[in-house]
Amino acid sequence: MVILLADAFAPDLPGRLAPFGELTTDMNRVGEAEVIIVRSKTKVDKAMIDKAHKLKYIIRGGVGVDTIDVEYAKQKGIAVDNTPEASSLAVAELAFALMISMPNHIAEADASMKQGKWLKKELERTELGGKTLGLVGIGRIARELAARAQAFGMKVLAYDKYVKECGDLAEMTSLDKLLSTSDFISLHTPLTDETRGMINAASLAKMKKGAYLINTCRGPVVKLDDVVAALKEGRLGGYATDVYDKEPPEGALLTAPHAVLTPHIGASTEENLLRLGDSIVARMKTYTKK
Ligand code: NAD
Repeated sequence: MVILLADAFAPDLPGRLAPFGELTTDMNRVGEAEVIIVRSKTKVDKAMIDKAHKLKYIIRGGVGVDTIDVEYAKQKGIAVDNTPEASSLAVAELAFALMISMPNHIAEADASMKQGKWLKKELERTELGGKTLGLVGIGRIARELAARAQAFGMKVLAYDKYVKECGDLAEMTSLDKLLSTSDFISLHTPLTDETRGMINAASLAKMKKGAYLINTCRGPVVKLDDVVAALKEGRLGGYATDVYDKEPPEGALLTAPHAVLTPHIGASTEENLLRLGDSIVARMKTYTKK
């Protein structure tokens, strides 16, 4: 069997997959592949599936299958899998890093120092302790973030359309109450028809003036034009994001005030790449019954 490893994983993964078949990273061999393994970069769309005549199994190393045309794969009898258990800690730590970077002006302080400026008076910081963090979606990643925020003395609220209870990790509340009372709002839903554009002019208007928004889930969950307008007007204190409608992003976000941007590196820790490898090998074992 030919296994097409389409994206970058831990360097030891090809060796670990070798017992299951012939490994290739050559996209020109898509027509020979029985298994295709991707992360976020390679989109498995209709056109790619049409070229993959022998394809039986797609594994996405990561959370969610929104980069794959699952319906079309199903029609063709191709199984689709992902590895939702691996990345939670890595993404939660990035969400935390983005959250703490904004009231501490880390990006601005660094950039201004390198331009020869000494903004000691201008860059007044605020603390996380005593502030309220609102989590939209209280799944695996949000729960890891909730525990870390509590350790920093934050009050944690959560809204989830499908989860009504999360123990001591957070106080469950309505979306409106979360938006109007949180100092920091962090997004942790999947991208679905319901969540697309969920953060828009109307929801931004409900937020506290100067609230900070963190997005490590998916770009289109926010209406970017509305977020950029809120940043320019100073209604939003900052927008820190790892994810974009189009990657890499273009346009107004790149010059918007108080936007902190990372290049979709939520899952890209050394440790997580090893965990992704473990999850992929486990799925290959089940698939081949080895
Ligand atoms: P999860 O499935 O454990 O949690 C998602 C939560 O969102 C669930 O509790 C679900 O009930 C809730 N939800 C679904 N629809 C909702 C709605 N309409 N309103 C409110 N809540 C809703 O997923 P997770 O592992 O925590 O990952 C969350 C998302 O993070 C993923 O779907 C993925 O898009 C993103 N992600 C990003 C990176 C990155 O590199 N930045 C890496 C991994 C995952």
